[in-house]
Amino acid sequence: MARMKSNRKDSLKVKAYRSRLENAEGYGEVWEIVKATVKSSLNERRVGMMLFLDDLPLRLGAYHSLGTNNIVLNRALVNIVEVTSKSKRLINSFVYVLLIHEYLHALGRPRESQVRALVYKISRESFGQDHITTQLAELGPWSILKGIPLDAMNAPKRVIEIVKDFEKADKKYII
Ligand SMILES: [Zn+2]
Repeated sequence: MARMKSNRKDSLKVKAYRSRLENAEGYGEVWEIVKATVKSSLNERRVGMMLFLDDLPLRLGAYHSLGTNNIVLNRALVNIVEVTSKSKRLINSFVYVLLIHEYLHALGRPRESQVRALVYKISRESFGQDHITTQLAELGPWSILKGIPLDAMNAPKRVIEIVKDFEKADKKYII
C-alpha cells in the first residue's frame, strides 16, 4: 500500500516536471526547474548563480569556472538546436541538460563521470525513463545533433552577454 502510494506520488511528480519543462519560456524558467529537480533528488541548492551567453566552439556546451557564480552557456550551439529542431520541448531539454551539468559542478562536484551519472539519475527521477531529457542525459546532448556537420559550421562570434535577472528571468531564447 505504502509502495503504491509512493509510486503514484512519483508519477505525479514526473507529470508536473514534464509539463513545466515543456512550457518553460526562456533560460530563467528552465533554471528554476534545474534547481527544483536537484533539490528534489539531492536536497541541495545554491542561489545567486549568474548566466552568461557566449559563442564558443561547438563541441563545448557550457562551462562553470570554479570559485565563481558564473555559468557560461554556448549561445551558438543553442541557436543551432533552435534552428534544427523547432520543438520547444527538445530545446528546453537540451538547455536543461547543459545547465544542470554546470549546476552540479557548482555544487562542489568536479568529476565529470560523477556529474554525468547524476544528471542521468536526476533526469530519470524527474522526467521518467522515456523522456527526451533522460535520453539526452544518457547519450549526451550532442546526440540530437547527429548528422549535422558541426565542424564545418562557421558560427559568428558575438559579444558575451549576461542574462538579466536569471534567477527569476523571463528572457526568451531568441534575441
Ligand atoms: Zn563538466
